[in-house]
Amino acid sequence: TTTSTNQPKEDEEKPNFYAGKDDEALFTSMPLSDKTKAGLEAQSFTRMTQIQSMAIPPLLAGKDLIGAAKTGSGKTLAFLVPIIELLHKAKFATRNGTGAIIIAPTRELAMQIYGVCHELCSQGKHSQTHGLIMGGANRRTEAERLAKGVNIVVCTPGRLLDHLQNTKGFLFRNLLALCMDEADRILEDGFEDDLRAILRLLPKERQTMLFSATQTKQVEDLARLSINQKSAVFVEVPS
Ligand code: ADP
Ligand code: MG
Repeated sequence: TTTSTNQPKEDEEKPNFYAGKDDEALFTSMPLSDKTKAGLEAQSFTRMTQIQSMAIPPLLAGKDLIGAAKTGSGKTLAFLVPIIELLHKAKFATRNGTGAIIIAPTRELAMQIYGVCHELCSQGKHSQTHGLIMGGANRRTEAERLAKGVNIVVCTPGRLLDHLQNTKGFLFRNLLALCMDEADRILEDGFEDDLRAILRLLPKERQTMLFSATQTKQVEDLARLSINQKSAVFVEVPS
């Protein structure tokens, strides 16, 4: 219902927009469902940022991807748009359980991502369910929701691992996509062991995406552990 809140504020740095031919930079030039297009349009997202125009095509094509671009460059939609498209195309339903997991390093970031996901799904009238799973929230309420079927799970690592190990009825064997956002910070915050345990439990046949502000040695190690090296694409917006 708002048009202005999603535009960067005057005093914030503006995202880098794609510098190519004008019509190549529009979301409408991408092969997206009418629902996703409507969800973007309702929020006045028309022109893709650089990282979006670099990452969305290979992700729509099903490739694994490592994406690096500084904070504020629009990474959230770069992974949420392809994830929602993937579940929409698969006609992923509540009874299928969880089709995508997005891991963020902090509760604050998880809540932000969840908010963007919620707006895109609801404004686009997508049928997929989505939920927030994070430390400090009511564990049992989360478990009950997971057992009913949360198609897109946005979470912090510790609580996700807890549910993967302990929540009966959390159906995740149909997982199609895993995204690790701010991978550099997830590792800095000492979640490496949790991440390794999470990766051991999740289905191996899936699309994996790894986004960060910086490309560090640790991110490379995580990529080696989680990404399909043969088909992976690396995209970076130089800062
Ligand atoms: P990052 O994750 O790279 O730090 P975000 O995904 O949080 O960046 O986006 C930063 C800001 O840019 C947000 O306010 C978001 O709404 C806005 N934004 C993202 N993509 C676009 C776009 N295509 N057009 C206009 N604003 C955008
Ligand atoms: Mg971000």
